[in-house]
Amino acid sequence: GFKCGIVGLPNVGKSTIFNAITSAGAEAANYPFCTIEPNVGVVSVPDERLDALAEIVQPKRVLPTAIEFVDIAGLVRGASTGEGLGNQFLGHIRQVDAIAHVVRCFEDDNVVHVDGSVDPLRDVEVIQTELNLADLATLGKRIQRIEKLARSGDKSAQAELSVLQRVEEVLNDGKPVRAAGLEPEELALLRDLFLITAKPVLYVANVAEDDLPDGNDYVEQLRKHVAAEGSELVILCGKIEAEIAELDGGEKVEFLQALGLDESGLDRMIHAGYRLLGLITYFTAGVQEVRAWTVVDGARAPQAAGVIHTDFEKGFIRAEVIAYEAFISARGEAGAKDQGLMRLEGKDYVVQDGDVMHFRFNV
Ligand code: GDP
Repeated sequence: GFKCGIVGLPNVGKSTIFNAITSAGAEAANYPFCTIEPNVGVVSVPDERLDALAEIVQPKRVLPTAIEFVDIAGLVRGASTGEGLGNQFLGHIRQVDAIAHVVRCFEDDNVVHVDGSVDPLRDVEVIQTELNLADLATLGKRIQRIEKLARSGDKSAQAELSVLQRVEEVLNDGKPVRAAGLEPEELALLRDLFLITAKPVLYVANVAEDDLPDGNDYVEQLRKHVAAEGSELVILCGKIEAEIAELDGGEKVEFLQALGLDESGLDRMIHAGYRLLGLITYFTAGVQEVRAWTVVDGARAPQAAGVIHTDFEKGFIRAEVIAYEAFISARGEAGAKDQGLMRLEGKDYVVQDGDVMHFRFNV
């Protein structure tokens, strides 16, 4: 499963948003890959195509795909200089695929700001500095280990060292690794370091209800920073998200419309996370179950099969594939077959968003 860690200074609204996530949450039992811990919330990824498929297939159940949000507490100014970022904190944040950085863009005299005033760019920098320091520590250890090897003439160690030193410079300049413009081969060298600032970031501007849907001056400041980084920005109101999470179906739509929104902030967070991580969805559509599955864009058929079960990947023979549009226009699998819209694809097939797939495999 894909995981998104929620970070931010104290009192910016992290817990409020995380609580909205858990109350909107999916039944974790349906997602065996998800971790069931108090700081983990599992949410289903809204996808209208699932409903359209279900209407045709009339399955016993419909299961959206899900992603996990992890509430990562413990990040404060000076965290990395004092006690060092706690091991638990680092462990949690290293494991996530993306980071949702909650930034306070609301004023409220009843909610103390740790630094005395609302200032999104300062807040972002405080967090950025702590994460950079954590990455510098990780990098420093690796550099120390590899320097000897490099000096003794080991060519691959020399190549790695030069990349590590460049990254060190970027971090010392106060920039995140994700903004360093590294080549894929260079990033591959860094992969097993699990650098925090290499992860994609989704900024979440927490605004007052009155500032929905477009934000305020604080959000504009943040927007410039986000654009310069090539990250994503979602504007929401934490308090309102908590209310939305309690509503279902029609009520939810009405409530959102009254606020001038098409989608809840949580749903926008999920979709932005999907884009940020380069994820796509494929479907399985049987009478027992119509289900959505998440893969990385570019995944090949066996990898996609492996998301369902590792045996499907190991024993992969071929996939029967119907594009989503074809499945809908032919009113299902039988119709699609009749019209020659079902393709047989082998192990090199690159899965397309919306593919309806059926895997053939050896056991
Ligand atoms: P955390 O420390 O980042 O987890 O922040 P919390 O979620 O505990 O929120 C801190 C305080 O801010 C709480 O009293 C919340 O009720 C309040 N809060 C959270 N979101 C909003 C918001 O959108 N508007 C306002 N006015 N207060 C909020």
